[in-house]
Amino acid sequence: STGDIKILLLENVNQTAIDIFNAQGYQVEFHKTSLGEEDLIEKIKDVHAIGIRSKTKLTANVLKHAKNLSVIGCFCIGTNQVDLEFAANAGIAVFNSPFSNSRSVAELVICEIIALSRQLGDRSSELHNGVWNKVSAKCWEIRGKTLGIVGYGHIGSQLSVLAEAFGMNVIYYDVLMIMALGTAKQVPTLNELLASSDFVTLHVPETAETKNMISTPQLAAMKDGAYLLNNARGTVVDIPALIDALKLGKLAGAALDVYPHEPAKNGPLFTNDLNPWISELQSLKNVILTPHIGGSTEEAQSAIGVEVGTALTSYINEGSSIGAVNFPEVSLRGLDLDQENVVRVLYIHQNVPGVLRTVNEILSSYNIEKQFSDSRGNVAYLMADISGVNQQDIKSLYEKLEATQYKIITRLLY
Ligand code: NAD
Repeated sequence: STGDIKILLLENVNQTAIDIFNAQGYQVEFHKTSLGEEDLIEKIKDVHAIGIRSKTKLTANVLKHAKNLSVIGCFCIGTNQVDLEFAANAGIAVFNSPFSNSRSVAELVICEIIALSRQLGDRSSELHNGVWNKVSAKCWEIRGKTLGIVGYGHIGSQLSVLAEAFGMNVIYYDVLMIMALGTAKQVPTLNELLASSDFVTLHVPETAETKNMISTPQLAAMKDGAYLLNNARGTVVDIPALIDALKLGKLAGAALDVYPHEPAKNGPLFTNDLNPWISELQSLKNVILTPHIGGSTEEAQSAIGVEVGTALTSYINEGSSIGAVNFPEVSLRGLDLDQENVVRVLYIHQNVPGVLRTVNEILSSYNIEKQFSDSRGNVAYLMADISGVNQQDIKSLYEKLEATQYKIITRLLY
C-alpha cells in the first residue's frame, strides 16, 4: 500500500513535491541539506524512493547499499551526480526535470535583448561607480529588429512568441523541421540565420555537433553591430573568438549565462587555467555576464517539484517510466486496480533473449489484458495487466517471477 512507501527528500526540494507525496500517504523524511556519504548510506538502506538536487552524489558505492530503492528523482536539470548506469542495472529508474524552467530562460533572454540594445549593463555599473553618462548613440529599440533563434525547442519556441509580442521579426534554425509559432520563419541554414539577424540567441543542447558551433567563421557571418546571446551551454560558443569579435567592434555586445567550466559553488570568481579569458571578458563594454541563472526562479523551482514529484508518484503507483533518463520508457493506460482480480506486473530484467518466453509462461494461466515492454542497453522492462488473479495466487506469482534467472526487480500492483 502507498502508506508503506518510504521516501527520503534531501537538499530542500520544493514544497510542491512534498505536498504531492503527502497526498499519496507516503512516509516522507525531509532534510534541508545534502548528507555526507556515511549518513547517506545509512538512510538509503531501506527507502523506496529518494529525491535529491545537484549536491547529493549517488555513486555506485552509495547505491549498492540501497535494498528497496526503486526510483531516484533529481529535482533539477542535470543528472551527472547519479551513477545512471549502475542505477539502471540495479533496476532503479532516474527522473529529472528538463523543461520546467523554459519560460524563465525565455524571459531572461528578452531582458538581455533589451539590456544589450540599450547598453543597460554599462549604464547601471557606471552609475553604481558614481558616473552619470547619458547617451543615445547606438542605443536602439528592439521593435522591428530581427531575432535569430538557433534551436527551436522548448526555450527557443517560447522565446519566439515573447519576441513577436515585442514587435521583433523572428527567424530560427533547427536541425529538425519544426512548425513555426506566430509569424516566425524557419531558415534552412545557420549561415542564413547569422547573416540576417540583429540578435542571435542560442538554444541548442550540448552535443558534439554544437561544440564551438559559434566560432570565428560564424561570428564573421553575422551582421556588423549584431549581438550574440548564449543561455544554452558554455561549450556552444568559442569564447576567445567572441572576445576578438567584440574587440574588433564586429559585434555590439553579448550576453553569456553559461561557460565551458563553471564553479561548483557560489563565491569568488573562477580565475583559473580552465577559464583564462575571464578577465578579458570582464573588461569588455556591453557584455552581460550572469552566473547560469537562466532557469533560476521561484516558479521554475516549484514547477520542478511538481514535474519530478508527479513522475516519481506515477512510477511508484503505476510503474510508468516515461521521462526516465536511464531506463526503458514503458507505460500502459488505464490501470484499474479497483477491478476485481486485476494485477499489474512490473518486471525489470536483464536484456537477454528468452526472458519474455519464461515470463509469459508464468503469466499464461491468467488473462493478459495488456502488455508492453521495451529495453535500453542492458536493461529491459515489462509491464503487463493481468486479470483473473485470486488474492491467494499473488504471493506465488510474485515468487515465481522473483525466481527467474534474469530478473532485476519484480513489483506487483494490486
Ligand atoms: P530542447 O531539447 O527543447 O531544444 C533544443 C533544440 O535544439 C531542438 O529543437 C533540437 O532539434 C535543436 N538542435 C539540436 N542540435 C542542433 C544543432 N546542431 N543545430 C540546430 N539545432 C539543433 O532544449 P531546451 O529545453 O529548449 O534547452 C535548450 C538549451 O538551453 C539546452 O542546452 C539547455 O541545457 C539549456 N538550458 C539553459 C538554462 C540556463 O539556466 N541558462 C536553463 C535551461 C536550459
